[in-house]
Amino acid sequence: MTFKQKINDSPIDFAIEIINDVKNSKDEGVLKCVQCGMCTSTCPAAHHSDYNPRDIIEKVLAGDESIISEENIWNCFYCYTCHSVCPVGNSVCEVNQILKQIAIAKEIGYDKLYEYLGFADSYFTAAIGAIPERFFPDIGQDVPGWWNFRQNLEEIRNELELDSLMPSKEVIDEVSKILTITGFKSKIERIRASEEVEK
Ligand code: SF4
Ligand code: SF4
Repeated sequence: MTFKQKINDSPIDFAIEIINDVKNSKDEGVLKCVQCGMCTSTCPAAHHSDYNPRDIIEKVLAGDESIISEENIWNCFYCYTCHSVCPVGNSVCEVNQILKQIAIAKEIGYDKLYEYLGFADSYFTAAIGAIPERFFPDIGQDVPGWWNFRQNLEEIRNELELDSLMPSKEVIDEVSKILTITGFKSKIERIRASEEVEK
């Protein structure tokens, strides 16, 4: 007899919520997980921590929403290896991104975001996610010549007759407006306020 899991049965609702999320591109891949562990065996984060992508999907399918409070989910850094090796077309990478969004919406894991607020700021100042300045010294140390290249980038592009990297003011204003209307700006302000409280 073939076992068929009904998608309207709880606890599968949590998986359905994730499948229906706009960030999910793999249709019903989550429901097809066969727990083979390919994702875990190839995941760099799993090699260096207790993080386990196979476990993530197991918990999602069990409707275990406590997963959003687990520290481990923040160890995934979106390399997409699991996405490319899954035999049934699942993407733990995308599932993880959705789990983190659910966590953030519930004001969980803010402390994991403080370091990256500079990325968010750059959408308002340059309409792109640029590397925050706080990372410059480390990158300069790890990548010889990077700082010099970074400082002279516009000049180099000029010499090569390439367009400026900086979008026009209209584009920046439009992106800022979209981010404000969609609630991104207020979310960033809440996270920043939380950081201030913790200082
Ligand atoms: S590789 Fe795919 S099917 Fe296998 S455990 Fe990971 S998510 Fe499930
Ligand atoms: S995207 Fe995340 S879960 Fe997938 S292999 Fe990379 S670190 Fe692991």
